[in-house]
Amino acid sequence: MMGLAKGLKHTLQNMSKKKVSYNYPDESIPLPERFRGIQKFYPEKCIVCNQCVNVCPTDCIDLTGKKNPDPDKKGKIIETYNINFEICILCDLCTEVCPTEAIVMTNNFELAEYSRDELFKDLQWLDENDTNVRKEN
Ligand code: SF4
Ligand code: SF4
Repeated sequence: MMGLAKGLKHTLQNMSKKKVSYNYPDESIPLPERFRGIQKFYPEKCIVCNQCVNVCPTDCIDLTGKKNPDPDKKGKIIETYNINFEICILCDLCTEVCPTEAIVMTNNFELAEYSRDELFKDLQWLDENDTNVRKEN
């Protein structure tokens, strides 16, 4: 009987306190500004310098570029850009070295899939991953 009273007292005391849990996934979880989530890629900003590929500690980025078809413009444009999220450790190094901020971290952390093949994300997927892009890169 004492145990029941103690439990009831604890429940009543905590009923009026602010909730510490979220109704996820219906309610999104507030994340810190510097959260390192799945990258967003801006193909139009990429100058195909390969710095992100060279710095990546897990070799999970591969890209190809081609000569800019516009005769008035120099340099290359991006052709393919893939990240293998099976081995990406979301370390942020690729976004840190990118001189044009073509690749940035986001607050998106939802990458659960039934197949490992689905963790291989291409340019189009990374371009469309633009929810909650981190303000400060
Ligand atoms: S976050 Fe790190 S591991 Fe992932 S692609 Fe960028 S550099 Fe590579
Ligand atoms: S570092 Fe940036 S600009 Fe250079 S290839 Fe990577 S994404 Fe493109």
